[in-house]
Amino acid sequence: MSATRIPDKYDVIIVGAGPGGSTAATVAGRKGLRVLMLDKDTFPRDKICGDAISGKSVDVLRELDLLDLVVRDESLGSWGVTFSGPSGDEVAIPFTKFLDAPVAPGFVSPREVFDNILFNVAVETGIDVWQNASVRGIIQDEAQTVCGVRVEYDGQELEVMAPVVIGADGAYSVVARDLGMKQLSEKHYCAGLRAYYEGVTGFHPRNHIEIHFVEESIPGYFWIFPMPNGRANVGIGMLSSAVKKRDVKLKPLLDLLVAHPRFESRFENARRIGPVRGWGLPLGSKPRPMAGDGWMLVGDAASLIDPFTGEGIGNAMVSGWRAGEWVHRATEAARFDAEFFAGYQTEVMDRLRNELRLSHMMQRLGNWRWLLNTVIRKASRSEELADLISCMFDDLDERRQLVSPLFYLKVLSA
Ligand SMILES: Cc1cc2nc3c(=O)[nH]c(=O)nc-3n(C[C@H](O)[C@H](O)[C@H](O)COP(=O)(O)OP(=O)(O)OC[C@H]3O[C@@H](n4cnc5c(N)ncnc54)[C@H](O)[C@@H]3O)c2cc1C
Repeated sequence: MSATRIPDKYDVIIVGAGPGGSTAATVAGRKGLRVLMLDKDTFPRDKICGDAISGKSVDVLRELDLLDLVVRDESLGSWGVTFSGPSGDEVAIPFTKFLDAPVAPGFVSPREVFDNILFNVAVETGIDVWQNASVRGIIQDEAQTVCGVRVEYDGQELEVMAPVVIGADGAYSVVARDLGMKQLSEKHYCAGLRAYYEGVTGFHPRNHIEIHFVEESIPGYFWIFPMPNGRANVGIGMLSSAVKKRDVKLKPLLDLLVAHPRFESRFENARRIGPVRGWGLPLGSKPRPMAGDGWMLVGDAASLIDPFTGEGIGNAMVSGWRAGEWVHRATEAARFDAEFFAGYQTEVMDRLRNELRLSHMMQRLGNWRWLLNTVIRKASRSEELADLISCMFDDLDERRQLVSPLFYLKVLSA
């Protein structure tokens, strides 16, 4: 079957309608560009995730005037994070600065709900959206400039052309693959498993998300996040190199952690809803080229997940937002070349570079059990230290202390 070509109808094609793609589409759509957004799924759709919507995502939602939509829908406000260390010590870190704020500094919202909100916002800007449309590859001209995509849609093979293609197609991006980017090495890739439960007990009254460094899960962590409607998102993430080196089987490990003496009473009357499912996390510890002739990558396709926390929604939204701005600038200037789009990469990395580097350093510190134990034990006994850690969530300069020997001297003397 020969493909039908659709020329000159769009200013930009956005592949993928997750947080990165939908944010880019909203920004470009609001600016009046002719946008086609494609997704191989049909919304609402699930995405394997911890479902934690961090402060950074909240900031973007607020800037784009979308926060109310998320607050109103099926989401649970969270006012802190609880950590526990390998020795079993536990510390609750409230986000003190926000305790009296009317809107929570973070949320837990099932991606089936959260992504659908962002998707609908993008649709409402009047762009064209094709769901159940699977992009098979990019189209490049003789100068290797990207000028369209090949897509299977509605039983047809189509070639849709545009001067810019934004790859927002996630961890297994077809756009990045066709641009010659290989799967990241196992040192910069994480494997994650997620399960939904109902009936988990013992959550903090301010709905803290929980990150547990359990002996068996190190160098990864076990999470338990409270969700709306009495459910919980439970999962584990571990660097792929560690999974391979130690031959870790993540699913039995998750079962083991749920039944672990530290957590078993909380799961006593809990019931798992649906299967345990896994997905990859391309980490931003080794960022990829993010732009070139006729293309930009955003979110997981650009490998932007925080290497310490595993958070990727905020970075997908930040990069999607910038990509939407840059496609507008490109259209105005009629410039679609790599030199022009280098400005996109610079802008995104100016925003994210420092925190990605810091998180990469912290990821390595996370291997040191005694350090985790000491920080968590001391913070559980010192309000001042707990407060300092709380400030670090909001302030990158404060967070820098985490890789400074002085901070650990302060911890030891706390
Ligand atoms: C187990 C796990 C837990 C996580 N927990 C958290 C967390 O708690 N908080 C957090 O912030 N981040 C978390 N993350 C990371 C987060 O899920 C991602 O960073 C985020 O989804 C990236 O958004 P995106 O828009 O780049 O990609 P995605 O959300 O993956 O969206 C990509 C879209 O592209 C579509 N697509 C893919 N291929 C094609 C194709 N060929 N043609 C057309 N469409 C296509 C897909 O259907 C999908 O809708 C977690 C990840 C994992 C795996």
